[in-house]
Parts: sequence; structure tokens; C-alpha cells
Amino acid sequence: MRLSPALAYGCRYRTPPLKHLLTFTLLPHSHHHHHHRRRLTVSAPLLPTALSLSSQLPNPNFFTGNSLFFRMERFWSGSSINKNKAMVEHLKTYGVIASKKVAEVLESIDRALFVPDGNAPYYDSPVPIGYNATISAPHMHGTCLQLLEENLQPGMHALDVGSGTGYLTACFALMVGPQGRAVGVEHIPELVSSSIQNIQKSAAAPLLKEGSLSVHVADGRLGWPEHAPYDAIHVGAAAPEIPQALIDQLKPGGRLVIPVGTVFQDLKVIDKNMDGSLSVRTETSVRYVPLTSRDAQLRGA
Ligand code: SAH
Repeated sequence: MRLSPALAYGCRYRTPPLKHLLTFTLLPHSHHHHHHRRRLTVSAPLLPTALSLSSQLPNPNFFTGNSLFFRMERFWSGSSINKNKAMVEHLKTYGVIASKKVAEVLESIDRALFVPDGNAPYYDSPVPIGYNATISAPHMHGTCLQLLEENLQPGMHALDVGSGTGYLTACFALMVGPQGRAVGVEHIPELVSSSIQNIQKSAAAPLLKEGSLSVHVADGRLGWPEHAPYDAIHVGAAAPEIPQALIDQLKPGGRLVIPVGTVFQDLKVIDKNMDGSLSVRTETSVRYVPLTSRDAQLRGA
């Protein structure tokens, strides 16, 4: 089986409390997904209309299928910010996020501003953004924010390598606030320009304007020395091995979250201890696009 590099997701859902939940099994968008059906589960209190309808449904498969889901979704939910909120509720329900602050930040940055038009922005699935890259799935963004929460306190410095759409960089900027620093590094210039436009429409716009949030065209394997050392470093693409520059730019007490591997990848959590030694653990299995050279990425190698 050939694994598509244009996918980035991980599987770490816990079993939902089924009797309180309505489950929609979403059919995959592409054949690459066929053995990885994603389930979008929405907690019942949010969806009284759907609940009352469910008793009239002809069979349990009635909800299976995207077009019906879209119709239903429009039926029960109004503005896009409500849908963004429902997505965050879903991440809480599954235990992907636990922190109140992380939930607030995810609620204030509307994911729809960062997902290319014509795609469902709140589905728990990665979405292609061109240049052989994807915006990661919501549960991966939630997982990484949760892992980095303590290293994203107000005033801290955060680096987002492979910042892509700018979504997570914007979340980092809200976490660390105007006294902190959130730096995105992305090697595709077109993605950097569009990410800046996305951020300008988002709740992180003032931070971009004030300068506590910035995005740069560069090879992220070299980090971004200007604002080092960092309390938090996130890498949004899978590295064959951990780049030394990122270790060097990590503050003692800092944390690096990085997918490592080629075909099989682990999301690694690397803590730099106060004596400079490293503690490394594996959080979960994931699949991200590679952290590589611009040429190799554009060739699809
Ligand atoms: N986290 C982002 C994007 C994830 S896709 C989001 O969710 O929107 C990974 C990104 O890493 C892509 O945009 C890709 O162009 C970028 N990338 C890959 N190798 C890189 C490198 N060496 N330096 C900088 N960016 C890189």
C-alpha cells in the first residue's frame, strides 16, 4: 500500500459514552481513507432537534453520508462560530483537550478562516492546502495545544515549525498573549502569505499587528534563532530525526512536540530539564507530511 504524504492525522480517540451521544460515521473523502473512517460525534445536549428526529428515522444508517449530514448541520446550527464551538465541545467530550484556556483559544480562533473554501472546516480530518501540505485535523491541533499548555503561559516564547495555514501559530499567540512571542516558520512563501491573510481575519489579528505574532519564510529545521530560547516548540511536519537546532533553541524547562519518523511516525514529547538533559516520550502514533526541503516537498518525494 502506498501511503499518501498529503495526509496528516493521528488516532487517539477514547470510546465515547454512547448512550449520551449521536454518532455520525462520515464517509471518507478519498480512497486513501477507506480503512480509517472518521467519526464525528456531537454531544446530545447541543442537538435537541436531531435527537427528536432520531426516533422517526427509518434505520440507523440514515445519517450515514455527507450530503445528508450537511443538510442536517445547516438545519440545527446557525453561525459558523457556533459550529466551531461544537467542534471544541467534541474535542472536550473525547478528552482530547482538558484545559479551559485551550478550549477558549480554540473557540476564539474560527477554524473556517484557515481551511480552504469548499472544504468542511469543522470535520475532524486533515484538509489539503496545496503544495503537498495539509492543515492538520482538529484533534491533532487540540492534542498539541494540550501537550504544550504549560509552556504557552502568558509572556512565554513559542515556535511553530511548518506553520502552514497559520492556524496553530494564531492559537499559540493567543495563549502567550501580547507580552509573549509566537513565531511561525514555513518554507512555502505562498503559504506564508495566505497564512498572514488568514490570521488578519482572526482573533489573533491584533497580535500580528503589534508584533508578538510573526510568520517567516525559512527552513524550519534551523528553527528561528532571533526569538530563542523557546518555552514551546511545535513541529507540524514529520522529521526523519529531531533537528539539533530545535533542541538547541529550547529553553531549559521547555518542551518540543514533534512527529518523528517516515512511514510510521510517533508524536514525540521532548522536555529539556533544568540541567540541560532531555526526557523523551512517545505520545501517540501519527501521520504527517514530511519535514523536508522545499524541492522535495514540491516534487512530492
Ligand atoms: N500545522 C500546519 C501545517 C501542517 S502541514 C497547519 O495545520 O496548518 C506541514 C507544513 O510544514 C507544510 O505547510 C509544509 O510546507 C511545511 N514544511 C515542511 N518542511 C518544512 C521545512 N523544512 N521548513 C519549513 N516548513 C516546512
